[in-house]
Amino acid sequence: MTGAEAGGAPIVRVERLRKRFGGTAAVDDVSLEIRAGEFFALLGPSGCGKSTLLRLLAGLEHPDSGSIAIDGRDMAGVPANRRPVNMVFQSYAVFPHMSVLDNAAYGPRVGGAGRAEARARAEEALELVNLAGYGSRSPDRLSGGERQRVALARALARRPRVLLLDEPLSALDARLRERMRLELVRLRETVGITFVIVTHDQEEALSMADRAAVMNEGRIRQTAPPAELYEHPADRFVAGFIGSVNLFSGIVRAVGDGGVAVDAPAIGARIEAAGARGPLLGRPVWIAVRPEKIAIARPGDAPPERAPGRRNRLSGAVEEVSYLGGVSVYGVRVAEGAEGLVRAARANAERAPSRPFARGDRVTLHWPAEAGAVLES
Ligand code: ATP
Repeated sequence: MTGAEAGGAPIVRVERLRKRFGGTAAVDDVSLEIRAGEFFALLGPSGCGKSTLLRLLAGLEHPDSGSIAIDGRDMAGVPANRRPVNMVFQSYAVFPHMSVLDNAAYGPRVGGAGRAEARARAEEALELVNLAGYGSRSPDRLSGGERQRVALARALARRPRVLLLDEPLSALDARLRERMRLELVRLRETVGITFVIVTHDQEEALSMADRAAVMNEGRIRQTAPPAELYEHPADRFVAGFIGSVNLFSGIVRAVGDGGVAVDAPAIGARIEAAGARGPLLGRPVWIAVRPEKIAIARPGDAPPERAPGRRNRLSGAVEEVSYLGGVSVYGVRVAEGAEGLVRAARANAERAPSRPFARGDRVTLHWPAEAGAVLES
């Protein structure tokens, strides 16, 4: 059971945290709770403030206002080396002149452990990151992935309550990155330490984290488990940052039955969407629909089985075709302008028996009301 499932007590509690650099609000009124044992991701585009937030947790930056409590203790005035956290950086910060074992033992040594104790913990940590037997090697005889694991071992050997990881995989090539993701998840399960990872890579965050906070311009826009971020984004920023999405702007013309009908002038259509909350009649909204929830068919074909219920329907011509291996994404022109190019994704396994769609083909798009999320900002 993960910390998130256990609903454990928060090990990190951030309240109304602010940090400015000159005219930039790097962290702008952020409140956040991270549960003990959780794999938590801070996700957002470059410059959104996620590294600054991590550095504030580590004690490498000092807040202008607000508070941080870790493991029930207020961190104000507690220097970095006295906090129950440890940080792993993007570039493998290992000492080239020390052996792998000495590198790993450095963490506990700095933390005040005696020589024998530091060595024992270093050996244990090296085993955890699959580097048992590498202790006497010099880091310059290691691959990039192995060096990053040495950095991880050094951080783990200090036995922090919270491990802070700042883009730890970004210097690795794509295949290694994917393997290390799985290793990090396994490692977190083995050691039971809370992991907080900073990344701009949504796939990385979604695949590893129990919950993620999506940041933009110093603020947290939404904190939720990956599936909820994807299925129920709080706003257009989150919808667009997590995966790809079609957004239709319009005015709510009817409300009922837990759903809305929206007049979307840019595409000249009325769209129905389910799951709307609050008084929305007459309000401007955006309907977000994921490309894979839009079925694409030739005019006259029976609408595909997988999209039952109330249907939204648009017709147009295929303008873009992107073959991505497992899926193909079709850009279908249903009206002029940016909102008029609607993307529909289709699993290529479903393609048979009909031939694939090609540029210029006339098609119809269908999706059920339940596929659309209603966003107010
Ligand atoms: P990236 O993924 O590019 O590292 P980030 O989301 O981690 O971005 P931060 O590094 O936290 O973003 O930076 C947030 C904002 O604060 C940026 O506008 C950045 O330029 C600014 N900033 C960060 N550190 C400093 C600093 N030491 N001095 C001045 N400005 C800074």
